Amino acid sequence: MPRLGVLGWPVAHSRSPAIHNAALASLAMDGWRYQRLPVPPSLFVETTRSLRASGFVGANVTIPHKQAALALAGPVSETASAIGAANTLTFHADGEIAAENTDGPGLLAALGSSARGARALVLGAGGSARAALWALRQGGASEILVWNRTSERARALASEFGAQAVAEPTAADLLINCTSVGLQLERSASEGEALNQLGLTFDQVGEYPYVVDLVYRSGSTALLAAATAHGSRTLDGLEILVAQGALSFELWTGRQPPLEVMRRAAGQDHAEHAY
Ligand code: NAP
Repeated sequence: MPRLGVLGWPVAHSRSPAIHNAALASLAMDGWRYQRLPVPPSLFVETTRSLRASGFVGANVTIPHKQAALALAGPVSETASAIGAANTLTFHADGEIAAENTDGPGLLAALGSSARGARALVLGAGGSARAALWALRQGGASEILVWNRTSERARALASEFGAQAVAEPTAADLLINCTSVGLQLERSASEGEALNQLGLTFDQVGEYPYVVDLVYRSGSTALLAAATAHGSRTLDGLEILVAQGALSFELWTGRQPPLEVMRRAAGQDHAEHAY
């Protein structure tokens, strides 16, 4: 039985099993199964190397293993190498473990042509910000700005990707939130509090005609709610999650991913956590 999974720690609230199992079922790929693989960092290398022997064809990789996945794999795709992290591993019969990153291409696919010629502001300087900077470069953004709570990290990341670090968020055509702000915020916390953590006020959100939030939760995030109130276009984290999952699915199975089925499965699970 070909097996797939998602390696993470924690990974209990992952939506990837729902998304991939729905896709497998809709394509009548009987016998295939996608499961959670909760693996602590100390066991990541050993466990990942043994997956092929247990029937695994591929695995997604999430927090905190994306860099470790890149380090243990070979061959590594040009995209994974440029982003500096792997979220998709493929286990070959000869023992080779191939690394790919579908976070960047997934975001690029979800953005369509919107990045072309745009002045874009990325909030955050962690793993997903790296994927966003790659996607904006590939998508032809004319100017890329990076803001982060810890400014040294913004400067380091910006210089690596030929972008410009900014001391505070400034107006742009496209805003992409790559911080985890909004993920664990209590429902009772005010919208203003979440926006404050992003260096923004409600009014300032109106300076961005297109707002993307990688964070997803049931209901809208404070950032997307503010953007919608201003009449800005929005793209939510679930759509990006489905886009990266679809690319991984195609890589492992060679089948056209059923996007609508995957979207419905992502939306049906109301857990509030990262993938
Ligand atoms: P990460 O590497 O841990 O980076 C976290 C970022 O958030 C850092 O820039 C950090 O700033 C910032 N941050 C955290 N708490 C903050 C706060 N209270 N105020 C201001 N900034 C804060 O995480 P990641 O892998 O980039 O993931 C970020 C988010 O994107 C997560 O919510 C994750 O679930 C989501 N994500 C979604 C998808 C998708 O497919 N939809 C894919 C990947 C990630 P400092 O540097 O100052 O600490």
